[in-house]
Amino acid sequence: MPGHRRARPVSAGALFFRMIRFENILDKVRAYQPDGDLELLRRAYVFSAREHRGQSRKSGEPYLVHPLEVANILAEMRLDVVCVVCGLLHDVVEDTLTTTEAVEEYFGAEAAHIIEGLTKISKIEFASAEEHQAENFRKMLMAMVDDIRIILIKLADRLHNMRTLQHLSDDRRLHIANETLEIYAPLAGRLGIGKIKSELEELCLKNIDPKAYGVLAARVEAKRKWAEDFITEIRGVLKKALEENGIEAEIHGRTKSIYSIHQKMQRQRIELDKVYDFIALRIIAANIKDCYGTFGIIHNTWRPVPGRIKDFIAMPRQNGYRSLHTSVITDSGVPFEVQIRTPEMHLVAEQGIAAHWKYKEGRPLAEDDVKNFAWLRQIIDWQREVDDPHEFLNELKVDLYPEDVFCFTPQGDVKSFPRGATPIDFAYAIHTDIGHQCVGAQVNGQMVPLRHQLKNGDIVEIHTQRGHGPNRDWLGIAKTSRARNKIRTLLNATERKRSIEIGRKLLDKESRRIDLSLKQVSQSAGFSELLREYGFNKADELHAAVGYGKLSPRNVLARFGSQSPNEQKGAGASLARAVKRVLSRGEAKIKVNGMDDLMVYRAKCCNPVPGESITGYVSRGKGVSVHAVNCANFLNLMVDPERRIDVSWDGAKETKYEITLSVSVEDRKGILADITSIIADTNTDIRNVAANTFEDQKGTIDVTVSISNVKELDRIARSIKGIDGVLGVERPGSKKESDRSATA
Ligand code: MN
Repeated sequence: MPGHRRARPVSAGALFFRMIRFENILDKVRAYQPDGDLELLRRAYVFSAREHRGQSRKSGEPYLVHPLEVANILAEMRLDVVCVVCGLLHDVVEDTLTTTEAVEEYFGAEAAHIIEGLTKISKIEFASAEEHQAENFRKMLMAMVDDIRIILIKLADRLHNMRTLQHLSDDRRLHIANETLEIYAPLAGRLGIGKIKSELEELCLKNIDPKAYGVLAARVEAKRKWAEDFITEIRGVLKKALEENGIEAEIHGRTKSIYSIHQKMQRQRIELDKVYDFIALRIIAANIKDCYGTFGIIHNTWRPVPGRIKDFIAMPRQNGYRSLHTSVITDSGVPFEVQIRTPEMHLVAEQGIAAHWKYKEGRPLAEDDVKNFAWLRQIIDWQREVDDPHEFLNELKVDLYPEDVFCFTPQGDVKSFPRGATPIDFAYAIHTDIGHQCVGAQVNGQMVPLRHQLKNGDIVEIHTQRGHGPNRDWLGIAKTSRARNKIRTLLNATERKRSIEIGRKLLDKESRRIDLSLKQVSQSAGFSELLREYGFNKADELHAAVGYGKLSPRNVLARFGSQSPNEQKGAGASLARAVKRVLSRGEAKIKVNGMDDLMVYRAKCCNPVPGESITGYVSRGKGVSVHAVNCANFLNLMVDPERRIDVSWDGAKETKYEITLSVSVEDRKGILADITSIIADTNTDIRNVAANTFEDQKGTIDVTVSISNVKELDRIARSIKGIDGVLGVERPGSKKESDRSATA
């Protein structure tokens, strides 16, 4: 055999290039698809053998071994003929001179399409810079949406490469193993292909941390004899109990994979002896009724470990996985895990989406399949909507490592979520509108804050309010990509709508400054020219850009007015100078030279009060935030001076309030004159004075004054009180002064 120089055999299979024979693959496919186009399969084999002739793998083996093994993995998953054909051909376009056209000519459009998809994603390296990683993910997903078989073949390809990783350099090995652990194993998990997922994870640990793997493997090996005896014993006990109850079931015993044991020990910081599912029984019962029957018998025979019972039959995992899980302890104190499922559930547990696929041969991912894999649907929707690749990648990573939490609606419908999910996620899981209008939640009958983390078994009731909408904070609270995506989409749409409105108003204002109206400007010939220059298709896009503060209205409309060059220079700032704003006290709604509804709000960072020196800043989609001129935050914002705008408090139009003071007085001559003159001294307008009937030498005088704030009112009240003969001052229809200070 050529080129084989490895000193130490790693597996017996590789030692003699015991190449899998094509006939074996053919037999497998024939067994499950007797009327499939086996001739096509044979042609693909011959074609692949010819194209890869003379090529060898790093191990020294003929290259053909690889496509054969990949095809074999696909045949073991009982995938359709075209899929196995593509397994044989998957590297021909990438690694030989063969073209996609040639593949199409010999093997048909379907195969060519899959091969093309595989070739497109073949160069993807995930451990690259974040942005590339995100883009790569996108490509993978597009391929997946296009035809799920592309990903199934990719996973088979990766599995065989991982199985033969020992032939590569340490660097390469580590790189590929890390990438597999981060991307491909979770992806297999998400698609429900448990069998490939666990083998990939096992191989990853072996390559990434060979020392830890070796130590643990040795410890597990040391317990093997004991474990085998133990399994034989409990199998016997269970078999007897099941027979007595007339249940027929297959019982398989095994020790857990090294990877899962390692994970569990790391995550829970425990020793091997404490790993509850070091030994696991898997029971395949004929039907669901027998599954639950077996479940009961097991709990009758051994003591269940609290908190370990999981009913994934009633509540399937997001990837479609169904089984009953429990852990029990024998009388001698040995814990073990039990999984109970039907043959159909077992198939889905091992093959996931591939199990669904094989019933619908020859068709691309059908609507039904997508429904079965809600996750896939969500990812597809959402990758279309998310623009920022970093965001997309981060979300996807969160989503690839789910730890499901199950909660109920008050009607008993079950919803599953990743760990850390909140009522907001729950609300969006019910309906997008429920999510948007969510204002509060009750969990198990108790009001909880929206950031409350849901736990298994929680009953969640969402409170909604019409017209309510999400805010940016929600993005930090929601955990599911569905909720986050819906929130972001709505926020962006709202921001955009508001920006268009703001932009239009700013442009209208600027048009009027140059003695035109925005309508006139928009209808002029120069306007479409202008849109084209800025690269906008519609006026709204221009309005939005101005509203976001990306463009200054003066620069945009400069060509329509006649200005001195000087003025054109600091255009952003001078526009601003022209803008006067009236900020009515405590309200966000303001008037700008006759325009209303323009959103202006006092910045939370410095919260300027009337009278302070202020300045404005066009914030993205929100309007104009008003800061105190010495606000540190504002100084930081000044990096974008185009968005600065001058604002001022409008002193002239200060709102006045009419207030009536009721003054109780002694009957003294001239007291009315004293009161009115003291009010006049404070520069306050008197609107009305009414003196009431005097009794017992006492009486009241009601004075109506026009004031602009409470301070002014207090000042007047104090002055009046100081007048000789005044007994007290009150504001009728309002609380007494003493009460007011008590509640303040
Ligand atoms: Mn390959």
